[in-house]
Amino acid sequence: MNMQTSAAALDVQRIRADFPLLSRSVHGKSLVYFDNANTSQKPAAVIEAVDRYYREYNANVSRAVHFLGEEATSAYEGARDKLAAFINATSRNELVLTSGTTQATNLVAYSFALPRLQPGDAILTTVMEHHANIVPWQLVAQRAGATVKAAPINERGELIVERFVELLTPEVKLACVTHVSNVLGTVNPIREIARECRKRGIPLLVDGSQAVPHRPVDVQALGCDFYALTGHKMLSPTGTGALWAKKEHLAAMPPFFGGGEMIREVRFDGTTFAEPPHKFEAGTPNIAGFVGLSAAIDYYQSLGFEAIHAHEQQLLAYATERLREVPGVRIFGEAAEKEPVISFLVDGAQATDLATLLDLQGVAVRSGHHCAHPLMQFFGVPATLRASLAFYNTREEVDAFIEALGKVRKLLM
Ligand code: PLP
Repeated sequence: MNMQTSAAALDVQRIRADFPLLSRSVHGKSLVYFDNANTSQKPAAVIEAVDRYYREYNANVSRAVHFLGEEATSAYEGARDKLAAFINATSRNELVLTSGTTQATNLVAYSFALPRLQPGDAILTTVMEHHANIVPWQLVAQRAGATVKAAPINERGELIVERFVELLTPEVKLACVTHVSNVLGTVNPIREIARECRKRGIPLLVDGSQAVPHRPVDVQALGCDFYALTGHKMLSPTGTGALWAKKEHLAAMPPFFGGGEMIREVRFDGTTFAEPPHKFEAGTPNIAGFVGLSAAIDYYQSLGFEAIHAHEQQLLAYATERLREVPGVRIFGEAAEKEPVISFLVDGAQATDLATLLDLQGVAVRSGHHCAHPLMQFFGVPATLRASLAFYNTREEVDAFIEALGKVRKLLM
């Protein structure tokens, strides 16, 4: 990533004071929250924005002309504007607000891919994807008599781009790649992948769930067709997210969910639909959630991604170095460009046992398959432990984690 190095250092202690939950104790120990790739903690500004919505202007959106209805609509639509600017969409109308990445990929699967797929066609994805970027494609491919192919990765956990490009054959009607792996932290070269897809006229969907919390995203510069993201990993309430799509795709896609809000006129002799993005937003949305997401974007912008990136990369390097000192540790994913996610195992210990004992030491990490079975199959393991860091984490927390890991490792040996 082209990040200038002039960023002022983050004042992490001040930042931590913005996150009420970070001062919690668990099992009598200070919490070390290293499960940020699962969901991030929320700053007070987000919690208060949600609280203010319910206390001061709770109303439904796009329906009532009364004062509160207009305030709520303006806040909800304001979140769309903010998110559009945040990822540099050319227009707010390219942004469908969803409940998260999963809803976004399913929308593309049923509304974009399924009508285009013929028997014998294929969707290309990669071995490192989250199930949200595999299973929707399998479901629609099965219905259409098409297949899902997966491009391989190397032992370092990097996509083998030449193989991906070779797999972009004429039967491929859609390519789907994660921007950042939720298990390995690997950053995929999306611009290059998008260039190769464009040369062949193959639309590209990027799963940005793990990228948006760590780096500035510019969907125009990336050159993809669809970009899916989820709010709860980027300081926002759960049940928020978005699908960004090129205008021409949204215009050509039929609605996926039907109901209120997404129509122009309902008649028994032929219902007509609202223009995108509202055509894809049936029913009452998560208004409070998007009010929170709006505040989350303000919070990111107050810090700046240069400073966030610098701090997170230092922390990643430090945590990786400290982890390597622990006897018997195997780290999965050593890509040249990584976000602060470290998957690992310790010889002779089960991932779940380690995570359970680490929890008793106050350290929250995730163990399991991380919704990435094919990646676990590639590495030949059923599960890993994953320590995923955020800009509000500190070196002291890394030290506490390593000390706790040393202790629990001895208990299990
Ligand atoms: N894709 C990636 C890479 C993820 O890490 C996740 C969440 O873990 C998802 C998709 C699914 O996001 P959500 O469950 O918020 O829809």
